[in-house]
Amino acid sequence: MEFRLLMLKSIAVTLCLTLSGFTFAKIDVEYLATQTSQDKVNLEKINKNNITQRVIDLMDETVNLESHLTIRYGGEDGPLFDSEHQALLMPYAFVTEIEEQFNTIEPALSEDEMQQAIDGVLAHTLLHEIGHGLVYVNGLPVLGREEDAVDSFATVWLLEGFEEGQRMAFDAALMFALESEEVDEFMEEDFWGEHSLDEQRYYQTLCLIFGSDPEAMQQKTDIFDEAFVEERGESCVDDYEIVKGSWQAMTE
Ligand SMILES: [Zn+2]
Repeated sequence: MEFRLLMLKSIAVTLCLTLSGFTFAKIDVEYLATQTSQDKVNLEKINKNNITQRVIDLMDETVNLESHLTIRYGGEDGPLFDSEHQALLMPYAFVTEIEEQFNTIEPALSEDEMQQAIDGVLAHTLLHEIGHGLVYVNGLPVLGREEDAVDSFATVWLLEGFEEGQRMAFDAALMFALESEEVDEFMEEDFWGEHSLDEQRYYQTLCLIFGSDPEAMQQKTDIFDEAFVEERGESCVDDYEIVKGSWQAMTE
């Protein structure tokens, strides 16, 4: 009798441990102490529209992450995925970087528009780094450049998972375009870098946005000019389906 009870207990414990592996949130968030008053302001902007939690909820609903990840705000390094600690490093200064880029736009953005830009770039960046995390903890095969693959993951998940995902993806694309404007002349290191060139990341993000909704996007002639639609439009529709299907198959 006692033995049976013990058996049952041990089965119950095993079951609990197994279930807990499935049900507990796989991504947690840490905020390192802010060092400056600017950090504090940036932290407020990071949290204003709950982007971090919304990204985590989306991951919980749609992705089978095989181990936990930590999103760590603060610190100097990043944004990047630190595989040794399974942590996304997100410095508070990243908000300042986003604002500096979007401040070069004329006419100047309103406060709300700037917050939207921060939200979009932040969500895309979190998803990009989580993409690296997924590749690492799930041991996913990557056919091609990983940086391109996780950019696509970020854009597709924004478009599919967020009500305002299209606007967010446009802002993420615009961040790449603004960064590309800083480059006067390409150096060899630009071509051997891990990432595609910012201008290519801009167009690839636009391509996926176009591919996700070709009819509506053809009307946006200020963004998608005739040559783009004619020469790239159809393949963007194919690209979108391939990228979306591949990531969904790999993360179920
Ligand atoms: Zn990356």
